[in-house]
Amino acid sequence: MFQRHYLISRHRRVMCQDSLLTEVSVTSLYVLTRHLTHHCISNVTVATVCIPTLTHISHPCPSPCPKNYLTLPSHTAPHGLPCPFSSRLPRRPAGEWQGSFLFVQGADPQLGLMKEWESGVVSAAGGDEWAEELRLARAAVAAVNRMRPRPRFLVLCGDLVHAMPGQANRAAQEEDLRAALCELDPAIPLVLLPGNHDIGNAPTAATVEAYRRSWGDDYFAFWAGGARFLVLNSQLFVDASLCPELAEEQERWLEEQLESYKAEGPRGPLVILQHTPLFLVAPDEDDDYFNVERHARRRLLDKFSAAGVCAVFTGHYHRNAGGRCGAVEVVVSSAIGCQIGSDVSGLRVVTVTEAGVRHRYYGMDQVPECVELDVEQ
Ligand SMILES: [Zn+2]
Repeated sequence: MFQRHYLISRHRRVMCQDSLLTEVSVTSLYVLTRHLTHHCISNVTVATVCIPTLTHISHPCPSPCPKNYLTLPSHTAPHGLPCPFSSRLPRRPAGEWQGSFLFVQGADPQLGLMKEWESGVVSAAGGDEWAEELRLARAAVAAVNRMRPRPRFLVLCGDLVHAMPGQANRAAQEEDLRAALCELDPAIPLVLLPGNHDIGNAPTAATVEAYRRSWGDDYFAFWAGGARFLVLNSQLFVDASLCPELAEEQERWLEEQLESYKAEGPRGPLVILQHTPLFLVAPDEDDDYFNVERHARRRLLDKFSAAGVCAVFTGHYHRNAGGRCGAVEVVVSSAIGCQIGSDVSGLRVVTVTEAGVRHRYYGMDQVPECVELDVEQ
């Protein structure tokens, strides 16, 4: 059955039909549609998305491009012309609660880390230097494809590849990961976000722009089944010394998003997705390579708490961890790729209920094929 969702991206209004993810930014659409249409539509004001889902909206599609990724109607305005649908846009985005659902969280496929972790070096020759991580990424996709009920989306919480911007093997690692991700069932939307390895420990406007070109927006928001998800670029909380204007832009946008969620009244849960944990175990723990420093952490926790965020899903630690700060749970998931502690490669299965989230981390071979939505996992 077709359900019509309307949404407002951080850049422009976007209308989509029959989508499970009901919001996406025009920047992401631009990335994908550019590959589909081979002409610039960066000035598009409104697009109609008529696809089963927004699968692969966050990264360029492979060539040849599957027909079902995205279809832009001929009346899409390519040069900022007024949108023929603007009068149909409702006053508020669709976000009615539609019942419990699943999503799957993965983190740190980080193609290339294993070899460096073992031997201290990754050959610039590429090849099979990240074969095991690629196998695990494919296994993750296969596990998500098998799962029933079908997950509303798969999110990979950053560090998609190990090579930092400008380093050897970067393009090859991205290409190999993209190929693995294209094996995802087209009915399952893919949500990607940047980690420090994707945009650098101290990101710049250039590295963020390169990420956006490769994978889509670095922060954005979407609805799924009546729950609200905010995808954040957490490296801007860690070190924005080389791109303070980007950090300010995200901060303003985040403030607007949190305010609008509060203003819209009771509805499904509000969930944050990002790479670096706000904290690993306790809100007042010391600063560490693996957490957000205390001042930014306190500021974000206060904002999230005031807005009613129920959970922040993260990666970066290559181990499972997490804790609570009042009603806000910080969930730290181990990696799809290289393990630093005693956990195993795997995925976190999350059930979103009207009251919040339940979740459990599974080793890659243990990911369940059937999940009872109303039963504690
Ligand atoms: Zn990381």
